[in-house]
Amino acid sequence: MNYLYDHYIKNKEQQKWFEVIDALAVKFAERADTYDQEGRFPFENVDELKNAGYLSLTIPKEFGGEGLSLYEFVLLQERIAAGDAATALSLGWHLGCFLELAEERTWNEDMLRTLCEKVVQDQALINRAATEPATGSPTRGGMPQTKAVKEGDHWVINGTKTFTSMAPALDYAIVSAQVGDTGKKGNFLIPMHAKGVTVEETWDTVAMRGTRSDDLVLKDVKVNESALVEEDRGKSELPKAWLLHIPACYIGVAVAARNEAVHFAKTYRPNSLPGPIGEVPEVQRKIGEMELELFKARELMYSVAARWVNEPGARMEMGPSLMAVKHVATNAASKVVDLAMRIVGARSLAMSSPLQRHYRDVRAGLHNPPMDDIVISSLANRALE
Ligand SMILES: Cc1cc2nc3c(=O)[nH]c(=O)nc-3n(C[C@H](O)[C@H](O)[C@H](O)COP(=O)(O)OP(=O)(O)OC[C@H]3O[C@@H](n4cnc5c(N)ncnc54)[C@H](O)[C@@H]3O)c2cc1C
Repeated sequence: MNYLYDHYIKNKEQQKWFEVIDALAVKFAERADTYDQEGRFPFENVDELKNAGYLSLTIPKEFGGEGLSLYEFVLLQERIAAGDAATALSLGWHLGCFLELAEERTWNEDMLRTLCEKVVQDQALINRAATEPATGSPTRGGMPQTKAVKEGDHWVINGTKTFTSMAPALDYAIVSAQVGDTGKKGNFLIPMHAKGVTVEETWDTVAMRGTRSDDLVLKDVKVNESALVEEDRGKSELPKAWLLHIPACYIGVAVAARNEAVHFAKTYRPNSLPGPIGEVPEVQRKIGEMELELFKARELMYSVAARWVNEPGARMEMGPSLMAVKHVATNAASKVVDLAMRIVGARSLAMSSPLQRHYRDVRAGLHNPPMDDIVISSLANRALE
């Protein structure tokens, strides 16, 4: 029994998956500091997730996947993140990609089926490479400098993408680019083994080091006509509910920090006190504040995820609510990590303490989409409409 999770596990299938992921997350937590300190991609964790069939979680059943919904996706991602945040964020991009494709069905069905089969049968890993130095975050609407030019029945693609999570482990990247002279954006499915695709190891950050969000360089990459899998669809797109894996990830970081601080409060007994510091009112106040922040963020995230699943007719209107979850959760997570470190004191700054990793990792949430200012303006626009 774990009151943090039990309340959100609603049926036997969720329970079954949760137990599998819970056992793996315990192992991920043991390795997290090593991957972080060495700045390496957690191949071992991802192999274990592959063996558990996790890569097929959000692939529709008709294509051989598990067909699980946004709700289960978020629940399991949160648990992985409490073990290792970099593993969770990485897998979140892959699974989120398939959840979006399953719900929107904008791809040619044969292309979608083929890609899904590559995941189900060969455990292929996929991510979107949408960020570039000149555009910054793609959510701000900049035009990619990566260009796709039509030559006969092929596309030839040139450009550089930054922040490509899982770069050393990917099998395919869905790359945004200008489509010929149309002045429009499109997304191209590029096999990582295609001639002209290279990874430049530029990922040297303090946060989420294990994601290996390196640069993806495309030099005269030649792909079939059918590689153009998505064309700009203007404003009719569904809100990007799959991005809830981001708040789930940073809530997981906060839960790990909270667990560490609560354990410390129960066991640290300085000789100036008759018992552990958990008996001190000020420490209890901080623990209560952590619980409050987590309660708010998690209730909001799970209720919005459940609404998305249970009320498909409401989806088009849910953009601002989904964005609000991200804002509330990532800021709450930062506050929880801060409180956890205040409870533990200077020991939280030791390189051997997982809290210093959580402190660095939780900051990355602020720079994953949607950014706080975009969330606030979207809520304001809804109110003013
Ligand atoms: C750990 C991690 C993993 C990631 N993984 C991926 C991935 O797999 N694939 C991928 O495509 N991307 C990925 N990203 C990139 C991410 O989605 C963002 O594109 C990236 O973090 C850059 O965002 P930014 O806000 O810092 O950059 P910018 O958009 O350059 O913004 C920098 C600052 O400029 C200001 N600013 C810029 N433009 C505007 C504007 N139009 N209006 C107002 N203010 C503006 C804001 O103050 C902002 O803070 C990842 C990022 C991180 C941190």
